[in-house]
Amino acid sequence: MNFSVFETDKNGLQKFYEETIAKNETYAPVEKFGKYDYKKVSALPECDPDSPISLTMSVKPLFFPRSSKIMKYEENREGTIITETDEDPLAGKRVILGVKHCDARGLQVLDRVYKWDYIDADYQKRRENSVIISTRCNKADVNCFCTSLDYDVENSDAHDIRIINGLNEKIYIQAVTEKGEDLLKGVPGLQFSVCSSEVAGEESAKHFKAFDSSFRLKMNYKEVNEKLQNSFDSPEFDPASKNCISCNTCAFICPTCHCFKITDEKIKDTGIRYKSYDSCNNGYFTLMAGGHNPRPVKYRRWRQRAMHKFVYYKERFGVNLCVGCGHCAISCPVNISIFDVVNQVV
Ligand code: SF4
Ligand code: SF4
Repeated sequence: MNFSVFETDKNGLQKFYEETIAKNETYAPVEKFGKYDYKKVSALPECDPDSPISLTMSVKPLFFPRSSKIMKYEENREGTIITETDEDPLAGKRVILGVKHCDARGLQVLDRVYKWDYIDADYQKRRENSVIISTRCNKADVNCFCTSLDYDVENSDAHDIRIINGLNEKIYIQAVTEKGEDLLKGVPGLQFSVCSSEVAGEESAKHFKAFDSSFRLKMNYKEVNEKLQNSFDSPEFDPASKNCISCNTCAFICPTCHCFKITDEKIKDTGIRYKSYDSCNNGYFTLMAGGHNPRPVKYRRWRQRAMHKFVYYKERFGVNLCVGCGHCAISCPVNISIFDVVNQVV
């Protein structure tokens, strides 16, 4: 199916965003204390769809919230009674602006897990009801390596509409899926010229070439995949993880990490059950009821993290569990980077 492509300029793009926000429940990066997180917005000046990747939190919490209440319950003589379940605030039809390509790709990585042996109905509904509009970065951050990984950053279908910044100062708005096409049709009155996908593709390729040349980090992921497979016993995991304080920030901020824990907070007979982020970097993560813990030391936990990202997930689903966004390196309080760890080990 051929989807629509429009050519416009910066002013036209602003109008497109304004109309989109006016007609849809919209989320976009909103600045607070110098960082950007995705929030519901009601007007364009509240947000910045072009926020820099290094300062923007992942879009993951809009699909897999950091901590959500599953239910409230009460225990009495009759047993346990569920007294409250919340309506999912993220389940409605919505548009998300300003999602970077790597972050959108992260959602495709999560899709495989949540549609695998157990279907997470909440996650599926949030995905089905969301239209993702992505913007490609103009320049790589020092910790980015997305163009080195196994997905086509240039022609990614991880989003529904992509915004292409041409080097010729033109902007191209291209639908990539039917959801994207429907959204574009629902924003009438914009005076855009219809453009051929070939022209937009050529401009996109030129922009990509300039973008790709701005990367400091390059990785041969096939070599990393192959060598890591045989590195389980490598002594290098120990020095590579020496400074880790097991704070889990890298996992919480990562667009593809998906571990969670279920906890109960109980006062007398009333309790609330939460689903919250967890991480394999936690010392207790693999602690068993009998007291045995197969990963009692951090080099083993870091080994699990690296192997899951570049070996185990790939064996199961055919792609890496890392999209090269560099968020973990930006946020780590002791400057550990997954890029450095895997390159040190292999
Ligand atoms: S963010 Fe850094 S210190 Fe914290 S768990 Fe990850 S690697 Fe360790
Ligand atoms: S491991 Fe780091 S670089 Fe890879 S996707 Fe997660 S946050 Fe991004």
